[in-house]
Order: sequence, then structure tokens, then C-alpha cells
Amino acid sequence: MLISRKTKKKPLEMRFLSKKELLGTIAAEIVVCRKCELWKTRKNPVPGEGNPKSQIMLIGEAPGYWEDIKGKPFVGAAGKFLDTLLSEAGLSRENVFIGNVLKCRPPKNREPSSDEIETCTPYLNRQIQVIQPKIIVTLGNHSTAYIFSKVALPFKSITHVHGKSYETSILGSNVIVFPTFHPAAALYHPKYKEQLISDFHALKNKHVEKGLS
Ligand code: URA
Repeated sequence: MLISRKTKKKPLEMRFLSKKELLGTIAAEIVVCRKCELWKTRKNPVPGEGNPKSQIMLIGEAPGYWEDIKGKPFVGAAGKFLDTLLSEAGLSRENVFIGNVLKCRPPKNREPSSDEIETCTPYLNRQIQVIQPKIIVTLGNHSTAYIFSKVALPFKSITHVHGKSYETSILGSNVIVFPTFHPAAALYHPKYKEQLISDFHALKNKHVEKGLS
């Protein structure tokens, strides 16, 4: 008798390529992407970078001036502060993966439009499916709104949800979503600096409790 077993098969490419190779394939597609108008004004796309085997993924909003020049995420002033925050959480860039909702810089750092988010986020979704992080840290309103919408959590503003852990599942994998402010907020308003540091201490407690790094 044929016993049918419901096994969730991974797509073929995910069974034969390493996480590093799969992320490289996605990055190569982003480099030639012309799905929205941002390719016309960007200098370099910023696919994201970090440890492909990381259990912790951080998601920002979109590349800014320096990220656009260097093609790397969080390399400007906000990125320097992010490095400090990571070390407050007992982490470093070597053991996380850092990506963004948009892979190309919006002109003059304007906010991402909803069309751009819809067009670009399939890349982020694929990155999440490859990495299968156990914790996703969302940085700021746009990133948190996007990930909350994916996991059907209600979202009002980052002020209401920052520093809390949401155990849920995304794209077929269990995950803890951990929202916090965007590091750039601390550059303009000192009160966010203390809140970010305190949130990253809470993040440390969470990843230590779960035995993740
Ligand atoms: N701000 C972001 O949201 N992402 C970056 O990569 C840099 C600044």
C-alpha cells in the first residue's frame, strides 16, 4: 500500500546550493534589477551582507548616501551606531546578516513608496527563506510594518512595539520578530539612543536565552 506522507519539499535549487551560493544568486539578480525606477538614480544596489548561516537577521529600510556609494548596508553614521548596538547585544557583523526592505537608495533618502516596497520585497522574502533566521530584528517603522504585515500582526507605530519579542512564523519557519527603532533616529534625538541601547540589551537576553548567535 502506498502511504502518502506530507513532506514539505524545498525548491530544487535550495536542495543543491549552499546558503552562500543562494544568497549570491539573489544578489546577482538585484545587481541587474530594473523592476522599479530606482535603478536610474542609484549608484550601487545594496543586496545585504553578513553570515549566510546566521540565526539573527537585521532588516533596515533602504540604502542611504554612503551605502549607495559602497554597495554595502549600514556603512554611514547610522551604521557606526549599529556596530555599537550589536556589541551591546554581544554580537558583531560577522555573526548576523544585515539586509534592507529596499535594495536601492531612494533619491535624497526619501521614504520608500508602497509600490517600491511591493516590487522589491520578493528579494527580501527569498533572503529570509534562504537564511531561515531564528530572530529577525526590524529597524524602524518601514521594516517593522513590512514584517508585521507578513506575519499578520497588527502594527501602529514602532513606539508601541519596540523592545518586545513576537514569536511567530514567517515563510514557513518559526521566528522571533524583535522590532526596534532605526539607529538613525538616535543621531537626531538622544532619547532614542537610550531606548535603542536598552532594546539591544533585551535582544541579548533573548538570544542568550534561546542559545542563538
Ligand atoms: N539606513 C537603512 O535603513 N539601511 C541602510 O543600509 C543604511 C541606512
